[in-house]
Amino acid sequence: MGTKKLKGLEEFLENYPGMSVMPLIDGGLCLRGKFKFRATVPGGDEIEDIYRLEIVIPVSFPNDLPSVKETDGKITDEIANGHLFSDGSLCLGSPLRLLKLINDNPNLNNFVNKCLVPYLYAISNKIRNGGGLLFGELDHGNPGITDDYIRLFGLKDHLRLAQTLQLLGLKKRIANKKPCPCGCGQRLGKCGFKNILNDFRKMAPVSWLKAHTLPFG
Ligand SMILES: [Zn+2]
Ligand SMILES: [Zn+2]
Repeated sequence: MGTKKLKGLEEFLENYPGMSVMPLIDGGLCLRGKFKFRATVPGGDEIEDIYRLEIVIPVSFPNDLPSVKETDGKITDEIANGHLFSDGSLCLGSPLRLLKLINDNPNLNNFVNKCLVPYLYAISNKIRNGGGLLFGELDHGNPGITDDYIRLFGLKDHLRLAQTLQLLGLKKRIANKKPCPCGCGQRLGKCGFKNILNDFRKMAPVSWLKAHTLPFG
């Protein structure tokens, strides 16, 4: 990718002058430094805050999303309600949820504005005002990818999720002949549930969906 080719990088560095960019050996980029932002949500306070961050952008971005770590230890597991992955990176949401959020314009700025800033806002708001995490559009309930997918698809349990993710990894024509995982008793092709899967098929190729969903099903 290199620093020249990453869409939205120049704008990012202008908006966040405390951050600097470092190329990685594998072709990706690391953005690191003081990330100062100002944000609000409907009905919430305007908040300005600073976190020291390390954002690793894979060479395959936007097919694979950046991983973000907060490096001052301000965001503990307790404050984040468990929305941290085991490597310490922030759990901004599952791959499918983030894909859906930035799908209209998959570049660095859209990722920062729609996925990262709302997460940091929710954390800062909780530290200042107490209460729960106001994730807004980023809201993804319990930490963890499978729980997020169950909510995202409106399913009842993990078995139905496993069936849904399996169908998502198949071509539309083949998937439509299989039983629908929503519990309606019909074939997928006959049920409105297929529209949810088809929406995701428009956002990413089947190979991506397969790679980003099957291990969690
Ligand atoms: Zn999370
Ligand atoms: Zn159905």
